[in-house]
Amino acid sequence: MTEPVEDHPVIESLEEFLAHALALEIEAADTYQEIGDSMAVHHNIEVADLFHQFARYGRKHAEEVRSQAAGLTLPHIPPWEFKWPGFDSPETAAQDRVHYLMTSTQALALAMRAERSAHAFYAAVAETSPSAEVREMAEAFAAEEADHVRQLTEWIKAHPAPDRSWAEDPDPPAMPE
Ligand code: ZN
Repeated sequence: MTEPVEDHPVIESLEEFLAHALALEIEAADTYQEIGDSMAVHHNIEVADLFHQFARYGRKHAEEVRSQAAGLTLPHIPPWEFKWPGFDSPETAAQDRVHYLMTSTQALALAMRAERSAHAFYAAVAETSPSAEVREMAEAFAAEEADHVRQLTEWIKAHPAPDRSWAEDPDPPAMPE
């Protein structure tokens, strides 16, 4: 038996891995959908579209996991027994910080943390699982999460934050000395 280390819990089997991945992707998709809907209500359409796109990634990933799990019996793992590496569910560690007056900058920062955590989870499993099949699949998932982090980084670069526009006034009033 492999003894789970505190911050690097070991995912032993394919079933255990798929159960974690499914929970992670579904929760992430729900969170992104919720943020996207909230952004849409506030007419923040570009950010809403981005979050809805990330929600679709999560749902698509969950579908892939479900098809990998076809014919297998996934364990029913209570939330407190999930082997996330040192935190709550990676893509939703910050879920209770989702609130409806969240600004797009806060939402993007949350998404960035979530995607990095998801990547860290899959990358850790890719290194530590005793199952070669699990390591290989986790490796592929980690690569997808790394791509999400890249997409998010690009998007943030391309879209200056409207929340910060007050601090970026191109023509500030002249201040008396
Ligand atoms: Zn992702």
